[in-house]
Amino acid sequence: VGPVVIIGAGHAGFQLAMSLRQHGFSERIALLNDEGHLPYQRPPLSKAYLKGTSGPDSLMFRPEKFYSDQKIDLIAGRAVSIDRAARKVLLASGAFLDYGHLVLATGARNRLLDIPNANLDSVRYLRTLDESQSLRDYIAPGQRVIVIGAGFIGLEFAATARAKGAEVDVIELAPRVMARAVTAEISEYFQSRHAAAGIRIHLGVQVTSIESDGSNVTGASLSDGRHIKADLIVVGVGVLPNVELAAEAGLPVAAGIVVDEHLLTADPNISAVGDCALYASPRFGGSLRLESVQNATDHARCVAARLTGDAKPYDGLPWFWSDQGPDKLQMVGLTTGYDRVVMRGDRAQGAFSAFCYKSGQLVGIESVNRAGDHMFGRRLLAANGSITPEQAADTGFDLKSALT
Ligand code: FAD
Repeated sequence: VGPVVIIGAGHAGFQLAMSLRQHGFSERIALLNDEGHLPYQRPPLSKAYLKGTSGPDSLMFRPEKFYSDQKIDLIAGRAVSIDRAARKVLLASGAFLDYGHLVLATGARNRLLDIPNANLDSVRYLRTLDESQSLRDYIAPGQRVIVIGAGFIGLEFAATARAKGAEVDVIELAPRVMARAVTAEISEYFQSRHAAAGIRIHLGVQVTSIESDGSNVTGASLSDGRHIKADLIVVGVGVLPNVELAAEAGLPVAAGIVVDEHLLTADPNISAVGDCALYASPRFGGSLRLESVQNATDHARCVAARLTGDAKPYDGLPWFWSDQGPDKLQMVGLTTGYDRVVMRGDRAQGAFSAFCYKSGQLVGIESVNRAGDHMFGRRLLAANGSITPEQAADTGFDLKSALT
């Protein structure tokens, strides 16, 4: 294989380096890190880290010594271009890295708001440790915050800011929260929980401009003519995959860097993993680009196995979680195109699941505070199993009996 160069030291890049060594890979591994911190976990940035007082060390995958012990060259810097013919990566510093195999683990970046005053200092985003740190230092009781976008990150941030005493308004264009990702039943539950916590959620409207006194944010105007006062605006309107390096090197890109079911690009010496990769999925038929820790780490394990002689098509089962206030949402499977939802458990008690069916086959489960249903779904769906909608609805039915 020769030396492996990994561009990007997020969840996917880190896991790949570690898995390569676990699989006995003995050649050079260069892990390129452009963030100014040791590689770290992102999920706590909108959850425990944002809420708490722990230091950045609590987020690191491993201490510095791990990289030297494992002979992983953690290189600070940014890749600016790839010379595929010479198998070299050019860094911003002017240095080159030679590769036998190159892995693009460049992740995604925040989609920026394109409205008047969006460049003010108190218009913030949340993807990196530095962004989370400065938001954490900034949120204070009584402060007025507008969150644009009721996706996972927007709602996690909103719940945390509210718990820290801020006044929070969430603005969402869709008719319900997390509309692209979860069933209406789950949206409705979280809407009512956030409202009960004192968060004002405005659906079906968008922010048309940000108001300022010349230097600071003072509020926002909405598409329905209303104005909301605010000191801080946090934008969570999705991400864009970092595909530019691949595109400039002549590799096919679409809604991500195009890879086959082995996560290989059109160049047999270059793979792509994690948030940046648009992969062919035999399991689901078609192409997928997912943004989750599961996807990033399972992609990385698949490529590490291939590079150490155990090539198999990628067949990971998607799963995800989101902590919002006291509630834990867990999802497994892919629910796109479901035609029937069956509820299990007790919504009034705040512990229930939505079992999603497509043509009679279970395709995904969304669970609120019901970890057992989620773990059951991970085992059942990984084995391509199903249970009937009647069994799903019957809490007397022992789920374990469906696992063989
Ligand atoms: P990233 O983690 O984005 O890492 C890519 C890295 O590559 C970055 O460090 C980037 O700076 C670097 N890079 C890019 N271009 C270059 C270049 N040219 N040269 C060098 N380096 C480069 N997922 C869940 O499953 N559950 C959750 O609860 C959850 N919560 C989240 C909360 C927040 C606030 C965020 C931001 C994400 C959350 N996610 C969650 C999503 C999850 O973190 C991502 O799916 C995951 O980080 C993807 O890993 P990745 O390695 O593909 O990309």
